[in-house]
Amino acid sequence: MNCYDVIIVGGGLAGLTASLHLAMNGHSVCLFEKVNYPNHKVCGEYVSNEIVPYLKKLGVFLDDAAAVEINTLQLSTIKGRSIEVPLPLGGKGISRFAFDDILYRRAKVLGVQFEFKNVTAVTFENDRFEVQTMDDMIVRSKVVIGAYGKRSLLDKNMGRSFIRKKSPWLGVKAHYRLDGFPDNTVALHNFEGGYGGLSKIENGNINFCYLANYKYFKEYKEIEYFNQKVVSKNPFLSQFLETATMVFETPLTIAQISFESKSCIEGHMLMCGDAAGLIHPLCGNGMAMAIHSAKLASENAALYLGTPDYLRERMEIDYQRQWRGYFNHRMRTGRRLQKLLLNPSLSQIAIATVAKSTWLLQKIVEQTHGKPIIC
Ligand SMILES: Cc1cc2nc3c(=O)[nH]c(=O)nc-3n(C[C@H](O)[C@H](O)[C@H](O)COP(=O)(O)OP(=O)(O)OC[C@H]3O[C@@H](n4cnc5c(N)ncnc54)[C@H](O)[C@@H]3O)c2cc1C
Repeated sequence: MNCYDVIIVGGGLAGLTASLHLAMNGHSVCLFEKVNYPNHKVCGEYVSNEIVPYLKKLGVFLDDAAAVEINTLQLSTIKGRSIEVPLPLGGKGISRFAFDDILYRRAKVLGVQFEFKNVTAVTFENDRFEVQTMDDMIVRSKVVIGAYGKRSLLDKNMGRSFIRKKSPWLGVKAHYRLDGFPDNTVALHNFEGGYGGLSKIENGNINFCYLANYKYFKEYKEIEYFNQKVVSKNPFLSQFLETATMVFETPLTIAQISFESKSCIEGHMLMCGDAAGLIHPLCGNGMAMAIHSAKLASENAALYLGTPDYLRERMEIDYQRQWRGYFNHRMRTGRRLQKLLLNPSLSQIAIATVAKSTWLLQKIVEQTHGKPIIC
């Protein structure tokens, strides 16, 4: 078969969630993903509990995968001043290796067709899409969901504006072993030109993931050296790196992480997850937004596919309006926070101020997170 109701490009959290939603609604779905499951991804691996009710509805139970319950946020300044606050909704610690794989296995059960191929072009003509892969496979559909993450060759081919701007952000992640690390805490530690998150995952390992500005990194070039000279200036991170044992052979890295605004409709594709916009990782809400945006895109797509007088134009307008309504405020707050945290003179004052006020930190968390997703 080379014709489906929906084609999804990219099988991270957004794409996999959309595939579950649409397959459960009885639609034929083909999902293209360029890497086999399971696989590791650069991510803080703390997911807000706001997605739990929706995932349950899709038949996905993170507790079965031994996801760790997290209910406390610790924040520290470069000099080691720190504060802890309860997280109102809380979240879970689960690796992307496990999380994406659970969704993948559930999607297979629901009959989603997987093609492990790199999509190179998506064209739209006569109200139909044609999706082409690097090895010249061609598949057609009525709807395409673009869920291919932060940046892809497709963005370049479509002339999306963010891809032309260089981004200084580099992401680094590895799993570590350390006895005595608290189960219930996600920690965010500041260092010059970046910040790092620490939290436990399902197998008892600790994920250490950081975002660093290349301006600071390029002087050191090697991760180990950068960790010693810059990251370890924060006493919490210094102690962690001195006592923990890395489980990965080498850390994973990604460069050119862009936080520019993007459009959530592109060439009539419904974009979701990071392909529609990436919130600053310090907010710890990118995964929840990816899953929530997949829900919105799938609901609109299902309505369009099942209602003759609900036109494509209407679907696109509705999706755009909903996306902005749910996420614009969080994205703006994330941008402001990142600016503040990474301004060397302001960040010390800002974090020192926040470090004195549990109330203020809780307010900030509320501004960057959503409410539980209503099913
Ligand atoms: C440093 C860092 C730390 C973070 N920490 C957290 C955190 O603690 N909590 C949180 O909630 N969020 C965090 N995030 C954000 C979170 O990781 C993302 O928002 C989330 O992964 C988005 O999911 P997605 O499905 O949109 O994209 P992805 O998970 O990136 O999936 C995209 C998929 O598309 C595939 N793909 C790409 N191009 C093609 C193509 N042409 N053809 C076929 N397949 C393709 C890729 O292989 C990939 O599997 C962090 C982000 C960064 C950078």
